[in-house]
Amino acid sequence: MSAPPGYADVAHRAAIDLEGAEPQEILAWALDAFHPRFALTTSLGDAVLIDMVSTLRAAIPVLFLDTGYHFAETMGMRAAVAARYPSRLLTITPRLTRDEQDVLYGPRLHDRDPDLCCRLRKVVPLDETLSQYVAWASGIRRDESEARRAVKVVDWDAQRDMVKVNPLAAWSQEDVDRYIAERGVLVNPLVDAGYPSIGCAPCTQAVAVGEDARAGRWAGRPKVECGLHA
Ligand code: SF4
Repeated sequence: MSAPPGYADVAHRAAIDLEGAEPQEILAWALDAFHPRFALTTSLGDAVLIDMVSTLRAAIPVLFLDTGYHFAETMGMRAAVAARYPSRLLTITPRLTRDEQDVLYGPRLHDRDPDLCCRLRKVVPLDETLSQYVAWASGIRRDESEARRAVKVVDWDAQRDMVKVNPLAAWSQEDVDRYIAERGVLVNPLVDAGYPSIGCAPCTQAVAVGEDARAGRWAGRPKVECGLHA
């Protein structure tokens, strides 16, 4: 499903109107405007956005991409989040299992062609799922990396013909930490082990103090994004 005509203008106007608004206000706007054709995505580094939507409206679809390469801690987070929150946590899987991918493309594709691996295991499955919605939200923030400095709180996702909502775009790590402490929000145990940004295990390393949060993703390679956030 593509968003109806005029939604790009809605997104561009909201980017201006909602800049400076609290994440909960941005989420409330998105729910009013797009529910039930609105989904939240999560990488399960923490449950901040899931906690926020749970206070606004129950049973919001929350999409988690299970690439088959996640840390055990992330899969544990999935179980904990599913048990605690009323949102519908939906697990999306790639068309190919890891073994099938190895047969077709060779083993350790993530080392040889991470763009193709991300496309097969993340981008295509998410695109297929998001086609049911007209708007989606993610937890990306400007302070995570240089590549994300210009992220808007609401944007037009021209790649998917959808509205993209980034409620935490303007929040700092301190803002996130304060919310987690105040609300007792679930956090992936890897965060305290030096992984402020958590992706697939073969492509994620711990970062040093003072490094960008995403410095441990595809470390030592030119790749900085998986392709989900155009
Ligand atoms: Fe593959 Fe690594 Fe991308 Fe995960 S992050 S889909 S393992 S290349």
